[in-house]
Amino acid sequence: MKILVINCGSSSLKYQLFNMDNEEVMAKGLVERIGIEGSRLVQEVGEEEWTNETAISDHNKAVHLVFEALTDSKHGVIKDMQEIDAVGHRVVHGGENFTESTLVDDDVIAAIEQVIPFSPLHNPANLQGIKAAQEALPGKPNVAVFDTAFHQSMPKENYMYALPYDLYADHGIRRYGFHGTSHYFVTLRASELLHIPVEKLNIISCHLGNGSSVTAVKNGKSYITSMGQTPLAGVPMGTRCGDIDPAIVTFLQTRLGKSAEEVDAILNKQSGVAGVSGVSSDFRDLENAAEEGNERARLALDMFHARVRETVAGYAADLGRVDAITFTGGIGENGAHDRAAICKGLEIMGVKLDEEINGQRKPKEKKISAADSSIAVWVIPTNEELMIARDTMRLSR
Ligand code: ADP
Repeated sequence: MKILVINCGSSSLKYQLFNMDNEEVMAKGLVERIGIEGSRLVQEVGEEEWTNETAISDHNKAVHLVFEALTDSKHGVIKDMQEIDAVGHRVVHGGENFTESTLVDDDVIAAIEQVIPFSPLHNPANLQGIKAAQEALPGKPNVAVFDTAFHQSMPKENYMYALPYDLYADHGIRRYGFHGTSHYFVTLRASELLHIPVEKLNIISCHLGNGSSVTAVKNGKSYITSMGQTPLAGVPMGTRCGDIDPAIVTFLQTRLGKSAEEVDAILNKQSGVAGVSGVSSDFRDLENAAEEGNERARLALDMFHARVRETVAGYAADLGRVDAITFTGGIGENGAHDRAAICKGLEIMGVKLDEEINGQRKPKEKKISAADSSIAVWVIPTNEELMIARDTMRLSR
């Protein structure tokens, strides 16, 4: 069975074609700068990389271009689009409607449309991807996999904000949480690695990348997570501020005369470690700058580590028993310094790293806690695309 996984961002589209007989990635690629000058498709097949620079006006065109690339006589991997059995779509926001992945029909599309106000950049792009795939491959199943679904298990005391209750009841204002596909993938893998049945597993999963979130998983289910109604909340990120005093928003508007759009841009695009450091949103650049004595880069890193650490410690109290702390995402998988800095201070919970193993680049998936650590600490590379492909296969059969 061949499954195409599509992840539409606001101006990009990532895709992977899986042969699910052995879960092998046959081809993967990225369409960049959709609707902007300089758009192009880059496809990787094994070691070979092929770039097709062409005007790509919208996501519909982008999806068609992906099909062309996959069936290209020279650079493609299949002869005919009909070889694709089903398409899986990453959908960012499912609101309260979806507790798990689902086959797409008209009702599902309407429900995704309904929560566009919560995810104005991503949900419309996700919908365009779904509609383009439906058009291009009529009759083939499409499956929607939601970033929010895994977190629908949170108890009410953990997803409610202390706001007037009507704002929740009438407008759905609450914590939803994101990166659910990744946190769930890590949960399932941790269950295998720790030999603990998933329904008994308690972990604290740190997904640290351009966007970062920490999730407490209790008995295999999301119990609380750091992102909120949108992916802006929680720990500081590359360019997103994470948790701040909400009064700052009105201060920016009333005292500094910023419009709602300007405030949104400040909090989403000009903040985080990039905003604090003035150097970069990339943790490698920050590490280098800090080593060269850049104090604001050091400050940004210290802030990030401290906020992740205190989230982990707080969630440990929520869980009572923690079987493992797990790291994933670009920073979680590669940033040995970051992992060490976050865990330093968790000694109070008996967490101790094996510095040598933590510092080794390979293997990527590994236990990095010392033998006498009271809580296991693991690096578990995430694979959201594979998770989407597995759900798509299960639901489309
Ligand atoms: P996204 O959230 O967009 O999927 P990733 O999970 O790929 O992002 O994470 C990207 C981030 O990972 C980069 O911004 C970079 O800061 C970080 N990163 C990559 N390699 C390293 C490394 N060796 N050390 C520290 N951080 C790294």
